[in-house]
Amino acid sequence: MSAPDVAVVGGGIVGCALAALLAEGGATVRLYEREAIAAAASGRNSGVLQHPLDEPLVPVHEASLELYRTLGHGFELPAEPAGVLVLSEDRAALEAGCEIAARFPELAPEWLEGAALEAAEPELGPGLFAYRQATGRTVPPAAAARAWAQRAREAGAELRVGTAVEALDRSGGRAAGVVAGGRSEPAGAVVVAAGPWTPELVAPDGSWRPIAASWGVNVEVRLAQPPRHVLEQAGVEEIASASGGGIESIFSIVTAEGVSAVGSTFLAEQPDAPAAAPRLLERGTRYLPALGRVNAFSARACPRPQSRDGRPLLGPVEGIDGLHVASGNGPWGISLGPGSAQLVAGALLGGGEPIAPELAASRFGAPA
Ligand SMILES: Cc1cc2nc3c(=O)[nH]c(=O)nc-3n(C[C@H](O)[C@H](O)[C@H](O)COP(=O)(O)OP(=O)(O)OC[C@H]3O[C@@H](n4cnc5c(N)ncnc54)[C@H](O)[C@@H]3O)c2cc1C
Repeated sequence: MSAPDVAVVGGGIVGCALAALLAEGGATVRLYEREAIAAAASGRNSGVLQHPLDEPLVPVHEASLELYRTLGHGFELPAEPAGVLVLSEDRAALEAGCEIAARFPELAPEWLEGAALEAAEPELGPGLFAYRQATGRTVPPAAAARAWAQRAREAGAELRVGTAVEALDRSGGRAAGVVAGGRSEPAGAVVVAAGPWTPELVAPDGSWRPIAASWGVNVEVRLAQPPRHVLEQAGVEEIASASGGGIESIFSIVTAEGVSAVGSTFLAEQPDAPAAAPRLLERGTRYLPALGRVNAFSARACPRPQSRDGRPLLGPVEGIDGLHVASGNGPWGISLGPGSAQLVAGALLGGGEPIAPELAASRFGAPA
């Protein structure tokens, strides 16, 4: 058997998009997924394609939307955004968030209060202020990763679902393949797109830890009158930032195909999702009183791959020839995943857009 050109580790949105783009670009691709396609956050997210509010990430988001437009394979990109309504009872705090959004003219932030807010979203709780951003296309959580996986298969990529990568093969001082089922499987290059588990494969000795798990709980409900917009408590831009803002929970609700996902937590340790569900719904009643009258039909916890500076890590890992990563999209992996994959595929195939220094994996230095 000839060695595959590229071994991709991880069957989330990023790994699946990468496998498809590489295979379509002529590479021989083998993808390893230990559990199932979209088994982790890529199947258990809130399902909103949202503007990342961070300048270096804007082209990655725009490229992702472009890729979603032609993704096909059961995936449909809503033609228009639903709009994201950012909410707070604290006018001053909300004004600060609105100023951040105003840096991005494409978001066209619009201030809403009183009768205008009630007309825009009749079911909201009392005493709230809001601004509306022109973003937020809602999709079923696992739809994108599954469609990319199907496209990868059709382009000739081999998807080894149910096969865990135990380690990287570092023979010859480079990434020479992966170890799976106790034996080495050679590859010309290896891309680790294993979400929050990426660092432990790159550096099992713990010498390289730029990505950590940020655990989110999502609770699903069916509402008689779901909100028209994506609703979000003010503060999400702080969570995505380097400091994380010390915030542990922010209310959000996203509706796609009649199911509303209520979130979410941002925790270092895995929470008990069924125990967290009633608290999330209770907190949500401040913004949407109807949440007090429904029961959750599912509650799930999953880890986001959160990088230390809030931006993804893409491309070659410093100091190890043949090793690349595609991870660290944090709270925005569905919104940025295909664009991130496209940058890494371009670097491997040649001729793609260069990876900006702010997004290059090499900014975190070399593992030991
Ligand atoms: C509650 C919640 C809500 C979210 N909502 C949104 C949202 O609305 N919009 C948005 O843009 N983003 C959202 N996100 C973020 C988004 O889901 C993630 O950023 C994205 O799914 C990460 O994709 P990934 O492919 O990098 O990693 P993952 O989805 O984590 O995939 C990594 C895969 O690698 C596999 N793997 C790991 N180790 C190995 C190994 N050794 N061998 C083989 N396979 C391995 C895992 O099984 C997993 O399937 C949300 C996240 C959470 C948790």
